[in-house]
Amino acid sequence: MLYAILATLFPPQCAVCNAVGSGLCDRCAPEGAARVTARLPTLRLAALGRYEASLRQAVLALKAGRRDVAGELGRRLAACVEPASVLVPVPTTRARRLQRGFDGAALLAQIAADRANACVLPSLEQIAGDAQRGRDRSARLAACGRFAWRGESLSGRRVVLLDDVATTGATLEDCAATLRAAGGIVDEAVVVAWA
Ligand SMILES: [Zn+2]
Repeated sequence: MLYAILATLFPPQCAVCNAVGSGLCDRCAPEGAARVTARLPTLRLAALGRYEASLRQAVLALKAGRRDVAGELGRRLAACVEPASVLVPVPTTRARRLQRGFDGAALLAQIAADRANACVLPSLEQIAGDAQRGRDRSARLAACGRFAWRGESLSGRRVVLLDDVATTGATLEDCAATLRAAGGIVDEAVVVAWA
């Protein structure tokens, strides 16, 4: 009820062109548009497009905390997700999550999964830089990555990584290595934009 009143008073506007109707209009980010694919060292990458023009503006709006834009991007990402796959979002740092009020990749994954009939395991965590301090050398080497898997065993399960933007792909590769160490089969990542 309250939401309906607010939606009438403040209808959503496109984050790129300000057209009234939704957080991202179909002219600025056409649904079903051709995808961009890339090859990372151990992953196939699928993106809605390059990190430029309207897609870049949409990602910046998402990073600024626009949930309606997350909804629109998540719906479009669903086309890159096979039904019944397991999505693992790349985690945002705690500071950024607090600043935005939500974890962008986790929200995108949930929306894409709902639409594509997939599921989400949001159990990858970013290890704070401080956690490495004061440990001996062997402990530091054992935890050389920036991520840790806190969920159930992934033994033999195929998982797909999901994030908002990929630049060098180093973060995705780091996450993939962590998921493989937890038993997962990881050869695919899906992102909104490829820089
Ligand atoms: Zn627009």
